[in-house]
Amino acid sequence: MTTFWCEHAWLGDGPVAGVRVPVADGRMAAVQVADPEPDDDRLPGLVLPGFANAHSHAFHRALRGRTHDAGGTFWTWRERMYGVAARLDPDRYLALARATYAEMVLAGATCVGEFHYLHHPAGGGRYADVNAMSEALIQAAADAGIRLTLLDACYLAGGLDGDGHLPLSDVQARFSDGDADAWAARVALLPERPGLRIGAAVHSVRAVPADQLATIGRAAEGRPLHVHLSEQPAENEACEACYGCTPTRLLADRGLLGPDTTAVHATHLTGDDISALGSTRTAVCACPSTEADLADGMGVFRPLRDAGSPLCLGSDQHVQTDLLAEARQLEERDRLITRVRGRFRPAELVDALTVAGHRALGWPDAGRIAPGQRADLVAVRLDSPRTAGSAPDQLVMTAGAADVHTVVVDGRIVVSGGQHVLGDVGRLLATAIEPLWEDA
Ligand SMILES: [Zn+2]
Repeated sequence: MTTFWCEHAWLGDGPVAGVRVPVADGRMAAVQVADPEPDDDRLPGLVLPGFANAHSHAFHRALRGRTHDAGGTFWTWRERMYGVAARLDPDRYLALARATYAEMVLAGATCVGEFHYLHHPAGGGRYADVNAMSEALIQAAADAGIRLTLLDACYLAGGLDGDGHLPLSDVQARFSDGDADAWAARVALLPERPGLRIGAAVHSVRAVPADQLATIGRAAEGRPLHVHLSEQPAENEACEACYGCTPTRLLADRGLLGPDTTAVHATHLTGDDISALGSTRTAVCACPSTEADLADGMGVFRPLRDAGSPLCLGSDQHVQTDLLAEARQLEERDRLITRVRGRFRPAELVDALTVAGHRALGWPDAGRIAPGQRADLVAVRLDSPRTAGSAPDQLVMTAGAADVHTVVVDGRIVVSGGQHVLGDVGRLLATAIEPLWEDA
């Protein structure tokens, strides 16, 4: 049995000094306020529960620092993203996702929700193993030492306008299984394994016709179901023109909202949308750095939380991989909108990073430092140039990924002294990303 001793540990909704956490079989056997024993593994600073990165597209990491030259919009950014998507195969995706997930663990993530729609070969067709791209992601997460919820996304149409759904473009062909039944049959071939949950996703109402939604809902029963929702006003306008309602109302009327569902972004909502999400306890995943990068607009997260929606966080397109910064932006953006400080207490931000994120990814046994929970621990330095002088209970408002010292996932030390067990993660990223642009 390994025992960790935490200088400070986040228990419940705040820090406690001097906490011993014996770990057996990847779980916390006990949590004790006590002095360290000689053989304890000492964790410096504030030890938080593991973070859940609830929304990731691993391949978007290749776009970091590659899309800022010509301005543009979400839609022109998407064209570049499609260019990268067309150049990925299972081997290249394994290398890219492994490095991307390793960077996430360096930032304190112990679990990732991968919203995956890059299913088939470029141009269409099928790999010999129809889930070869999914298996690449599963292998990547195992290599990087992070738990994975693979949110296998149904993606069937090229867009939506007032007349209905558009055909897939050439680059989108590899995203589609043809219909929701074929999607469900393929996903059913993926077995869960230790550290792996298989969840489902509706890419968006743009990419999935309404008559396919019930099939997806049935297939997802008892599993996490995620959906991109109202990220851009154009989605709302097209949905209104085609169906005469908002995307949220469309999902609600098809029975897709509820506590196992997570709406990603949920940026442009009506009052009725907020009520529909909150009253069904549908979770909402904010991705603040992505929403800022893509000029999406600012979501209304405090009203969503007050209406009943748990809030979690994702680094989405990985314009940065810093979950503490994502959490902080939840509060900072609300301050800018309302001109009021303290819209989210630090404990609420930690909850979004930990408990709510793990719940949204189907891991109710993770996200807290408590007996019986998975042994996910993130030690954040209190003595760095960024954090020195901060009170531990407010550290989430000052610390960043660079301050993460140690990360323990299911009892295994994956990051120690700021170093990942895979070694130089910057080099892994460069090796995976540069060939994708050499071919461009
Ligand atoms: Zn996304």
